[in-house]
Amino acid sequence: MRLFLITFVEGMSNCGVCATRAAPSHIVPVICLRPMKCPHCNTGIHSGFQAIQMITAAGLVWCVHFQGCPECKNAIIRLSGAYAGPPATVRGIPIYTAYPPHACPRPVPDEVPDPYKQDFNESCAVLSISPKASAALSRRNLQAIIHDKAGIKGRDLNAEIQTLIDSGTVPSFISEGLHAVRVIGNFGAHPIKSTSSGEIVDVEDGEAEWNLDVLESLFDFYFVQPAIAAKRKAEINKKLTEAGKPPLP
Ligand SMILES: [Zn+2]
Repeated sequence: MRLFLITFVEGMSNCGVCATRAAPSHIVPVICLRPMKCPHCNTGIHSGFQAIQMITAAGLVWCVHFQGCPECKNAIIRLSGAYAGPPATVRGIPIYTAYPPHACPRPVPDEVPDPYKQDFNESCAVLSISPKASAALSRRNLQAIIHDKAGIKGRDLNAEIQTLIDSGTVPSFISEGLHAVRVIGNFGAHPIKSTSSGEIVDVEDGEAEWNLDVLESLFDFYFVQPAIAAKRKAEINKKLTEAGKPPLP
């Protein structure tokens, strides 16, 4: 759930963060509140960005959005450029995190270990600069998870994905997502994506983003949900033991 709380003042334009009205000058700050994770410490916090308009150029209203993390006390600074107009027509430059640099807009859960987490963060960091590099890192990451967590090793990534789908060990939505990695990535026209998954080659529209989406679902399935189940089991066993009953196997 997202919560936007905007302080309205006269003559405002649009906030690049929440696509709602923002302060027109460098004098009046606007606060936009919504849930987020700190890009420094990955702690869930309530955002309290103040948006200050810096300059209007070529029709774009440039704003700096800033706040301090209440947990780690580090500064979080974002930039945006939005065209003035009603919120429904807002377009412009997507919100960009200037500090910390290379912040991942897709925080990885703590349960996910390296190298999967590190590769994912690097895929995010280079996404806007080089979707080709991002997609290559993601494919390599995907293949590593299939090898390490599913225990599947085949002649290439295409075959390994098929083996995993055929195994029936992952939910259908993950199977569909994995299949789409091959379809959106057009593995048929670019077999090197399958035979050398980490090779940097041309990407199709949306391919790099889709790879990240699928990795997130695999992270949840292979790391997050098992950790939650183990924690629940430990809690139940603690209560059973305290009650003098045998714990769950
Ligand atoms: Zn923090």
